[in-house]
Amino acid sequence: SAQPEVHEFQAETRQLLDLMVHSIYSNKDSFLRELISNASDALDKLRLESLLDKDLDVDTSDLHITLDPDPEARTLVVADNGIGMTRDEVVGLIGTLARSGTAELRRSLAEARANGVSDAAAEELIGQFGIGFYSTFMVAEKVTLVTRKAGESTGTRWESTGDGTYTIDDVPDAPQGTSVTLALKPVDTEDHLYDYSDQTKLRQLVKRYSDFIAWPIRMNVEKTVPVETPDAPDAPDADDSGETKAPETKTVVEAETINSMKALWAKSRSEVTDEEYQEFYRHVSHAWDAPLETITLQAEGTFEYQALLFIPTQPPFDLFMRDSKVGIHLYVKRVFIMDDCAELMPEYLRFVKGVVDAADLSLNVSREILQQDRQIRAIRRRLTKKVISTVTEMRAGRPDDYRTFWDAFGRVFKEGLVNDPDNRDALLKASSFATTHSEDELTTLADYIGRMKSGQDTIYYMTGESRQQIVNSPHMEAFRAKGIEVLVLSDPVDEMWVSAGAEFDGKTFQSIAKGAVDLEGDDEDAADSAKEEQNKTYADLLGWLTSTLSDDVSETRLSSRLTESPACLVGDTFSMSPQLEKLYRASGQ
Ligand code: ADP
Ligand code: MG
Repeated sequence: SAQPEVHEFQAETRQLLDLMVHSIYSNKDSFLRELISNASDALDKLRLESLLDKDLDVDTSDLHITLDPDPEARTLVVADNGIGMTRDEVVGLIGTLARSGTAELRRSLAEARANGVSDAAAEELIGQFGIGFYSTFMVAEKVTLVTRKAGESTGTRWESTGDGTYTIDDVPDAPQGTSVTLALKPVDTEDHLYDYSDQTKLRQLVKRYSDFIAWPIRMNVEKTVPVETPDAPDAPDADDSGETKAPETKTVVEAETINSMKALWAKSRSEVTDEEYQEFYRHVSHAWDAPLETITLQAEGTFEYQALLFIPTQPPFDLFMRDSKVGIHLYVKRVFIMDDCAELMPEYLRFVKGVVDAADLSLNVSREILQQDRQIRAIRRRLTKKVISTVTEMRAGRPDDYRTFWDAFGRVFKEGLVNDPDNRDALLKASSFATTHSEDELTTLADYIGRMKSGQDTIYYMTGESRQQIVNSPHMEAFRAKGIEVLVLSDPVDEMWVSAGAEFDGKTFQSIAKGAVDLEGDDEDAADSAKEEQNKTYADLLGWLTSTLSDDVSETRLSSRLTESPACLVGDTFSMSPQLEKLYRASGQ
């Protein structure tokens, strides 16, 4: 037949592979979890496809994953009889780095290389990006993938040593599904390379990383079994005779399922260890960090469902990208239905990962049906409230973890202040804000209100591009002089929610850069007449300034907000702030 085609990896993929091949990443064991995770996904997809497409001619009666180690040949094969891939898919999915966040990774890689890729930097990159299939190159000199897509007749072989090229080839007689053969690197425990052709090691790794996988993971093991002798006397007779005859045995090779396949979400919290939750989190999220928070929920009654949710520690690279997805997988009675189920979680909680298993949905439920489904809407409401209250509790009980959460996801979380008015109060309670009260500590709104001056009835804030820019603004001068606290809002989303009419504890939010701010307090009458006096004195000057600057400003007035600067620009009470203007312009409105 024809020669295999040689393809070059994209530049960034090559850099990544290079990182893998020479990896000092200490957790090289992770490659097995990644392969099993992919196999499990492929089985889920085939199961679902066969439900949706009655004409699909595949046998789904024994879906499973096989581990086949060969200590002599120093190879390990991880195989599944799942959905498989077409040739184009192999090139697109395996041959390129098709995952979102590639641009980010490329940037980080370039940066790391410029700095001579320190061990720590490489380790962090690998861990952050969650290198899936390519993690095999940490342990293998050569990786061969053979796959045939369900319903197609010809298979594909992909092979690479991770050196910049891969070959691709047709395979006429490939079994349906995917097998990945690793030609293992020599064992080098100092370099964290263990013997991945050893059954005991593999058993350990499966137990540790993949025990919960819902499909059987099988391995052929040698077993000593008694030889069956059909005409032997019955056991009770042997007992009666009092003789102990050594049973005849033989060695057979038998497929054994080495994972327990227990659905973690169906178990109570006390039955599951943190490590088990962590590995499950890594499987559903395709991430390599640890969950910051694990949330379990079991609902009984009319709508029966179970949920197991995680808040990650690190933000994924694609958190702010257009195609960033909601991370909840939907199951019906343990059967995988779909991933990234947008109907189960609002977009502003898209960083939450996990599964929902609903008891009363049809197995071939479609996205269209989901959108209308009352049960799904009820679950979404409940999960949303649960996540918000978990965040609030985290702040009270584990302030350091909360700070990690807020730094990673606060900007996304605050999108809810705009998009989810029903939960705005709870969201405001769970949120934190930078403030002039402290350089680096964040404040809650309740604490801000606790520090308000007597007579102050609004929450003052200023938006801008950075803390620096905001605190140095002339608008700040009078507030600083009078010791009045101002919230420092520098995230783009802040502008959106403050102008969406948010209120907290009966207090409105007031921008110190808009309209007239009354800072006089008690002595109002005296202040008013003094102001009138001054206005008269400067009427000519103000009139002249207004007409001279008429192209740029609509009015010039005396201000009590400045103590050092001679003048500042303010917006009308109801006008857009410069930040909002910029935001609208950027989005083409
Ligand atoms: P991820 O699993 O996070 O998408 P991977 O690098 O692990 O990233 O895999 C890339 C893609 O290759 C998968 O999304 C999947 O489409 C495809 N793939 C990998 N392994 C298999 C497999 N065993 N069967 C079918 N498709 C697979
Ligand atoms: Mg994967």
